[in-house]
Amino acid sequence: MTYTKDIDTLKNRYLALFDIDAIEAEIQNKNLGQYLTHNVEEYILGDFRFLADAFETFVAANVSQDKIDMLSDAFDYTYYHDKLAAFFMDPQNGFNLKTCHYCNTAYINSYGWHNTYGSVLEFINHATEGEWRLKFDKNKLSELNLQRILEDRKTSLFTSEAAFDSKRYLSHRIGTYKCLTINVEANHFDLDHVLPKSKCPLVALSLFNFVPSCQVCNEKLKGAHTLGTTKQDWIKLSPTDVDYSFDRDVDLKLVTDGSCTTFFDTRKANAAYRIEFDTSRERVYDKSIDLFRLRDRYNFHKQIALRILDLKERYADGKISEISRILSANFDTENEGKYTKSQIYDDIFNVSQIKNQCFYKLIKDMIERN
Ligand SMILES: [Zn+2]
Repeated sequence: MTYTKDIDTLKNRYLALFDIDAIEAEIQNKNLGQYLTHNVEEYILGDFRFLADAFETFVAANVSQDKIDMLSDAFDYTYYHDKLAAFFMDPQNGFNLKTCHYCNTAYINSYGWHNTYGSVLEFINHATEGEWRLKFDKNKLSELNLQRILEDRKTSLFTSEAAFDSKRYLSHRIGTYKCLTINVEANHFDLDHVLPKSKCPLVALSLFNFVPSCQVCNEKLKGAHTLGTTKQDWIKLSPTDVDYSFDRDVDLKLVTDGSCTTFFDTRKANAAYRIEFDTSRERVYDKSIDLFRLRDRYNFHKQIALRILDLKERYADGKISEISRILSANFDTENEGKYTKSQIYDDIFNVSQIKNQCFYKLIKDMIERN
């Protein structure tokens, strides 16, 4: 997970989602205080190592199931679920959530205008005529006013929602229209609890215990398991810990049994090649590779790797230089810089376009580590 937003700001925004007093009151009323070694706020904001300690201590204490149930009611994930989902989807919080953080083979589903426009202001300034009509029927926004918006926008973009509101295109402030608030029902992705809340409800609402993941990883494969068995495993295998180094320390390799010499003849190559995970630098990652069945899931898509290696073979460095020379040779100045080596390289391999998309690591490793 990358927390691009300044972490203290992010924590403040996160904390504001919860009614801490209510949670504390419930713990007090039901006499559950003995199970907490820290205050509620610390459980909600603590870093992953703090959470791993708390989880380990709690599990070792063999707390009875009825107390676990009562604690689950206090740290009520179901109650807060929609707010949490909206928090992770809100572009202002700096998460770029496109694919599953455990497998990178599936997109996490998040629909709606928030994928296209990062904020209401961006919508105001860039939504197309059709998008305005889709969101605001004629009762809310008259045809005349719609044309006014489109016209006024041409002269200069709106600098704030307030500046837009002051023009009275709509009868109410734009921020109050439900059609522009995040629709959690239609925007769905799974939030996995890295440390399972069913075993320790104290971590049910913790920021650093959440990993957006696909349904296969979350529901089918991980379920209520921990990642690995020891506390050291949990820390090393959690994408929310600062030392998580799967991308750096695991190499995806394409290996062959030698029966085929070309990547291009994919029918032959399919049987002769397989994708392997080289974990020699950090053996602990074998555990998450096994848990999420990454070997099977990646080999099902080995076509992607074969294609990249085929491209690499056909467009070796010298070839790209040659193409660049030929295409740049007789051009007028208008085309200058259009066919540099790095541009051609990017046109072919497309690396800069696929960041945050499925199989990004596989493609990057095929290019750089094979
Ligand atoms: Zn997944």
